[in-house]
Amino acid sequence: MFGLKEDWSLDVNERYFTLDDYCGAEPRWCSGCGDPGILTAVHKVCRDAQLLPEKTVAVSGIGCSSRLPHYMSTYGFHGLHGRALPVACGIKSRRPDLDIWVATGDGDCFSIGAAHWVHALRYNMDMTVLVFDNGIYGLTKKQTSPTTPQDFPTNTHPSGALLPPLNPLTVTLGVTNISFVAQIVDWNAPLLYETIKAAHAHRGMSFVRIVQRCPIYVESISKDIQDDPGKLLLLNHPDGIHVPEGVERLFENHQEHDPSDLSRARELVQDTSRIPIGLLYRNPDAQRYDEMTRIGMEMTEQEKLDGLNEALDKFAI
Ligand code: SF4
Repeated sequence: MFGLKEDWSLDVNERYFTLDDYCGAEPRWCSGCGDPGILTAVHKVCRDAQLLPEKTVAVSGIGCSSRLPHYMSTYGFHGLHGRALPVACGIKSRRPDLDIWVATGDGDCFSIGAAHWVHALRYNMDMTVLVFDNGIYGLTKKQTSPTTPQDFPTNTHPSGALLPPLNPLTVTLGVTNISFVAQIVDWNAPLLYETIKAAHAHRGMSFVRIVQRCPIYVESISKDIQDDPGKLLLLNHPDGIHVPEGVERLFENHQEHDPSDLSRARELVQDTSRIPIGLLYRNPDAQRYDEMTRIGMEMTEQEKLDGLNEALDKFAI
């Protein structure tokens, strides 16, 4: 169990964490919801990576997905609507030693949080961002979200959503300095685990859009995809997401995609007739803002003072 002091000279076994060490309160999502499967994958990745629970932080905004920090027994911050990313970036910039997970939804991230989404991607701080995209505001009971399909009836647009939905991945892949972009569905548990594991292993901001079931308000959206495997396109590549044995045959459509090819990634997400599943883009060399601020934090007081004096001289203040 965690809580042992490092300086204790007792002859105790090395700390080993089980799933119980990451499980928090009992989840209160609806029956059939895709969120519990995502949570389970996160718990497993934490366990398999043997993350220190006291050095792990789950951050969220508002929405069904944003209840995730309550279901982790790590540190957590259930923030304001759309503000998961600035909180997460703030934590990372001052405590680069912490492992940061962000849970957000289509309403939270792509609407009220849209400005933070774009700039957090560009800042590329080291954290794992999971967007639970169910195409609706579920917590506030079926209002049109940025990714609700056009003509789909909601409580705010009873005759059907008026506009075509936002394509979150065309936006994401258009932002400067992105470093990891993947897409997965919540109902393929082995591939979901592998995707989140790869996202967590990446150094920089890993952005994972998860097509998530909400059977209470938008059952037909995910059911259409589940019932027709031809709607999905599995991306294969030695540098991509590991596809566990037996999973490949669940997909009718496969395609080789080199995740270093940004132009091709953009083409893939522009074609809305099929949902590409796997790693769309990875750039391990993208600059990281948290590394830059970390350099600053590791300076001695004298070095900071010298830097300040240099700046004052430069601008003749
Ligand atoms: S309203 Fe939808 S997204 Fe929210 S918990 Fe229920 S099924 Fe899940």
